[in-house]
Amino acid sequence: QAVLGIETSCDETAAAIVLRDQSGKGGIRSNVVRSQLEEHAQYGGVVPELAARAHVTHLDRIIAEAARQADMELSEVDAIAATAGPGLIGGVLVGLTTAKALAAALGKPLVAVNHLEAHALTARLTDGVTFPYLMLLVSGGHSQFVLVRGVGDYERWGSTIDDALGEAFDKVAKLLSLGHPGGPAVERTALNGDPKRFAFPRPLLREQRLDFSFSGLKTAVRLEAEKRQPLSDQDVADIAASFQAAACDVVGTRTRQALERFRAELPEHPPQLVVAGGVAANKQIGAALRAAAEATGARVVIPPPALCTDNGAMVAWAGAERLALGVTDGLDVVARPRWPLDLPDMKVASDA
Ligand code: ATP
Ligand code: MG
Ligand code: FE
Repeated sequence: QAVLGIETSCDETAAAIVLRDQSGKGGIRSNVVRSQLEEHAQYGGVVPELAARAHVTHLDRIIAEAARQADMELSEVDAIAATAGPGLIGGVLVGLTTAKALAAALGKPLVAVNHLEAHALTARLTDGVTFPYLMLLVSGGHSQFVLVRGVGDYERWGSTIDDALGEAFDKVAKLLSLGHPGGPAVERTALNGDPKRFAFPRPLLREQRLDFSFSGLKTAVRLEAEKRQPLSDQDVADIAASFQAAACDVVGTRTRQALERFRAELPEHPPQLVVAGGVAANKQIGAALRAAAEATGARVVIPPPALCTDNGAMVAWAGAERLALGVTDGLDVVARPRWPLDLPDMKVASDA
């Protein structure tokens, strides 16, 4: 079955066509992403109204391009899937409304996809991972552990009580005048820095719960940077490296704890860790996660960066997984700015 997926919940306008065969194996026919980095660059962050307008301007063309690259007519797909939340509501409305119009015009079923579910299921598309597994989502808007038992069957084990990890990278980049998006810039700058020069705090790490907190770390970075004005290039590199080291320490330690909980609560299943979200592209974070998995004897799957950040293929795939279970949505489905994964309405009748 072929599914068109549309993603417009943040600052990527994206569309893709993916296939899912009877056995549950996936394939990507096309995956077109237009990032709005330029539109938002001068503001140092995503401006919701500008994002929504850019989606309006570009989405039709991106969908046509996804069909062209897949060498398919839109009338040949079996369903239309779109992110229905959580996200910036103006953008979500653009994608979801377009999907409704296509579904109505083409007479195809609509699948309203939870963006977090799309991140959560991507590793099944890329690596055929089987349930259950632990997902760590570390993106610009989220930092959480979710136990994924099946499609629609999620249990949140912990999340950030303040900033998301990607957000912390972005804010640190801004403090150090490294530009936006901050994650890649901090990573690059940290290569020349001393990760031990500054002992930044590891918030919440002494507590047993699986939650994160990154705002204290960000504040400590800000205070250090303010104290040393004007910053030399070496200061900037050392601060970036020391921040990244603290972030890796926190994420690695927490992940080890979460995998230990997986082993204790699901002893009959091999422990598996799936990583999602843009921060998964960070090599040091990846290394910390691999070390945590190795320490607990877990398998770790980190999809390629293009599928960890927002994209249409993950939305199409989540749509395909739901479609295979007979779950579709009516044209009256609403867009939702907030939509936690572990609500009962994510549930589907049976698990594949
Ligand atoms: P969400 O999916 O939660 O709605 P989002 O769309 O902003 O949020 P993504 O597109 O998955 O999230 O990821 C973007 C985030 O990932 C940004 O905060 C960015 O700084 C961060 N990021 C990207 N590459 C790296 C990197 N190499 N190191 C650290 N962070 C990175
Ligand atoms: Mg994004
Ligand atoms: Fe995302």
